[in-house]
Amino acid sequence: TARLLQKSEKLALLGQMAAGIAHEIRNPLTSIKGFIQLFKVSQQKEEYFDIVLAELERINAIVGEFLVLAKPTAAVYVEQDVKVLIKDVITLMSTQSILNSVEIFVDYDHDLPMISCEENQLKQVFLNLLKNAMESMPHGGNIHIIVLKKEEGTISIKIIDQGIGIPEERISTLGEPFYTTKEKGTGLGLMTCYKIIEGHNGVLTIHSTVNKGTTIEIILPTITQPLLKKEVILV
Ligand code: ADP
Ligand code: MG
Repeated sequence: TARLLQKSEKLALLGQMAAGIAHEIRNPLTSIKGFIQLFKVSQQKEEYFDIVLAELERINAIVGEFLVLAKPTAAVYVEQDVKVLIKDVITLMSTQSILNSVEIFVDYDHDLPMISCEENQLKQVFLNLLKNAMESMPHGGNIHIIVLKKEEGTISIKIIDQGIGIPEERISTLGEPFYTTKEKGTGLGLMTCYKIIEGHNGVLTIHSTVNKGTTIEIILPTITQPLLKKEVILV
C-alpha cells in the first residue's frame, strides 16, 4: 500500500543519515560521559550529575539504535535455530523479568525448521519487543511466545502480552522514528524491528486491544536447503 511504501522510503533515508550521525555523536558522547563520571567521584553536586548522566545514557541509547540500522558493513546471515536465539534473549532479560514480576512462557512447534539470519540483529528485535511487552505491564503479568511452523516455508513467532494495549488509531504510527508514549522512551525500538525484519525478507504485524494486550507477529522465511557454509550478503 501507499502507506507502507512511504514508511520504507523514510526508513531508507534514515538509514543513510544514521551512519553519519551516529559516528559523529558517539565519540564526544563517550568522552563527556567519562568527564562527568570523574566529576561525580570528586565533587558534590550529585543530583545535577545524575540527571546529566541519565540524559547522556538516553542519547547513547538513541545512537545505539541508529547504529544497528546504519551498519555499513556486511551483514552475515547464518543458519540458526530460532529457539536458541529466543532462549538467549530471555536469559538476558531474566533479572528485569523478576524485578517487573513478569513471567515469560514459550511454546514451540516440534521439528521447527531453521532460519537464515543475522543473529545479533534478530536478537535485538526480540529484545526490543520483549522490553515493550514488559513495559506495557507496569504491574507485571505474563508474556507468551509462540513459535509455529507455517505452510509455504515460513515460521511465525508471536509475542503476546497482557499489557495496556495500543489504541487502533495509533497502530499505523508505530515504527515511525521517535514516536513514544514513555517518559524515558526513544521511540526507535519498533522502527529498528521493522527495518531488521524487512532485511530478513520477513513481515512484522501488530494487533492490539486497549487494556487487554498486544500481539506482535513476525513471519520469517525458513531455510529449505541447509547452508553449506556461512553465506555473506552485502546490504
Ligand atoms: P519506546 O519503547 O522507546 O517508546 P518503541 O518504538 O519500542 O519505542 O515503541 C513505540 C511506542 O509503541 C511505545 O512508546 C508504546 O506506546 C507503543 N508500544 C510498543 N509496543 C507496545 C506493547 N507491547 N504494548 C503497548 N504499547 C506498545
Ligand atoms: Mg521500546
